[in-house]
Amino acid sequence: MRASLAACRMSVGALLNGLLVSVVAALLWKYSKLSEHAALLEDELHMTRQSQELSQAHIDYHVALQALQEHGTRMVCTGKMHTDRICRFDYLCYCSEAEEFVFFHSNASVMLPNLGSRRFQPALLDLSSVEDHNTQYFNFVELPAATLKFMPKPVFVPDVTLILNRFNPDNLMHVLHDDLLPAFYTMRQYSDLDHEARLVFMEGWGEGPHFDLYKLLSSKQPLLKEQLRNFGKLMCFTKSYVGLSKMTTWYQYGFVQPQGPKANILVSGIEIRQFAKALMEKMNLTRVEEVEKGGGSSEGKEEKKDEYIIVFSRSTTRLILNEAELILALAQEFQMRVVTLSLEEQSFASIVEMISSASMLVSMHGAQLITSLFLPRGAVVVELFPFAVNPEQYTPYKTLASLPGMDLHYISWRNYNEDDTVTYPDRPWEQGGIAHLDREEQERIKLSQEVPRHLCCRNPEWLFRIYQDTMVNIPSFLEVLKQGMKTKPNPKKSKPVSMLHPGRVREPQCQTSVQTSTEAKLTVSWQIPWNLKYLKVREVKYEVWIQEQGENTYMPYILPQQNYTFSENIKPFTTYLVWVRCIFNRTTLGPFADVLTCRT
Ligand code: UDP
Repeated sequence: MRASLAACRMSVGALLNGLLVSVVAALLWKYSKLSEHAALLEDELHMTRQSQELSQAHIDYHVALQALQEHGTRMVCTGKMHTDRICRFDYLCYCSEAEEFVFFHSNASVMLPNLGSRRFQPALLDLSSVEDHNTQYFNFVELPAATLKFMPKPVFVPDVTLILNRFNPDNLMHVLHDDLLPAFYTMRQYSDLDHEARLVFMEGWGEGPHFDLYKLLSSKQPLLKEQLRNFGKLMCFTKSYVGLSKMTTWYQYGFVQPQGPKANILVSGIEIRQFAKALMEKMNLTRVEEVEKGGGSSEGKEEKKDEYIIVFSRSTTRLILNEAELILALAQEFQMRVVTLSLEEQSFASIVEMISSASMLVSMHGAQLITSLFLPRGAVVVELFPFAVNPEQYTPYKTLASLPGMDLHYISWRNYNEDDTVTYPDRPWEQGGIAHLDREEQERIKLSQEVPRHLCCRNPEWLFRIYQDTMVNIPSFLEVLKQGMKTKPNPKKSKPVSMLHPGRVREPQCQTSVQTSTEAKLTVSWQIPWNLKYLKVREVKYEVWIQEQGENTYMPYILPQQNYTFSENIKPFTTYLVWVRCIFNRTTLGPFADVLTCRT
């Protein structure tokens, strides 16, 4: 690392070379445009070399260079820890030979937080949305701004840039959950990261199979790490943000504890659906706005005709071996059309279009199920699991479907019958082969009836089981489906429950009286929350907590009215602390009003 940084410093090279770089840079600046492809970029560089005019752009370039030399790099971040930090930079530079970001210090540069060497314990921030992954850290190398004189002429990137790592761009679930959703909402967090923003992916991978999806985030072509060297040895981002918001992620992949929903989920279906809608608009798709699936209207029967079920199939691994039979059974059971989709056969846009109006999505466990975020409200997600895989342990799609406001109904089916599974012990280990293990271990795995809890990502027993093909037992599948459908909320009856919360109850008061030496009364009253008079709420209730001062426990009461006189368990000459809050529709809690101190 140090050696190549030295290379970056030494390579000022011939004057001619330096001049060319600054001409190139000047033109890049002038047209506010980085090339669309590496090839296009080469053209542009070539053309620029032949260009004789320096004009205004040259001046702008020198203004930028002077600003960098005088002010150095400026960084201000949010977040207390490296795991929740996003940093905004002026003039963050990148040395492509050293593959290092560079912070230039001058008297005017700013570095907040200024962590000293804690910046390396373990890093300034996570560059991907996966928490604290040791291959995804971001940091920079420091230099005095004065050293710029000895360095290659920088190329300035005029666009506001978002710098991040994609976590696993080969896998559709990871693309949406780890990259697209976090990038989308990071861009909403900082208003200058608009549709003209430039994304830079630093994880070092190639475009990958889903690059078109990343392109939907901004009108500008995203840049890959390997392309940065085309811009010269030293590249400076005039304005950039580094890192991704983790606010929208709901799943942890099991690096430190077995995989599962994140401990503190901060996203609801509302934000997921807004993201889905924005992505659809970018793909020029409009959802046929469902007249609430299956109900309400007089043309209810007509609609049934248009309803359909999707079977999302995989064509290389983790197959459903009797797909035709499954499709027939579904069509018969629900009297609906059944459509099959696969990532191998349809474009992403056409898949999304189909999913966005489907009534039910049936699929083997796998990344393709992330497309359920495009399902209409009220739809059903049916996830199938191969033999010996416990659906309760692998819940990225269940968690998604169950987010409040997602309004999806989730059902899982599991193959309990070993005769219906096909294993592949001789495949490569990453597709679940176990031939590389010693005999005893192979035998143990083959005899095991359920994969024990494990960490990501190379547990051979897990891979062996999850890459099995499955003959879906139709009676068992239909039984699970029928049972599961019983708990599906009826769209006719259950109006979409508002997620608006009550405000604080107002003017809470208490009055007390002593009846006898052992009996007393405590009357508590309050006014409705301010926002209630503007809302239509099905059921409004109040919760009152009464705690005798100094005790750890309290008595909770649920009341429909705005005052109540308590006499049970109320002692004379005692101080009670009383909390009151409003609850909408049984589950939507409001805040407690200031505590009342009531002395009998
Ligand atoms: N994939 C696919 N068809 C297949 C197997 C995989 O479309 O037959 C896709 C899958 O949806 C995912 C990627 O290839 O986007 C990687 O699949 P893998 O089985 O490794 O991951 P998983 O689906 O278990 O997350």
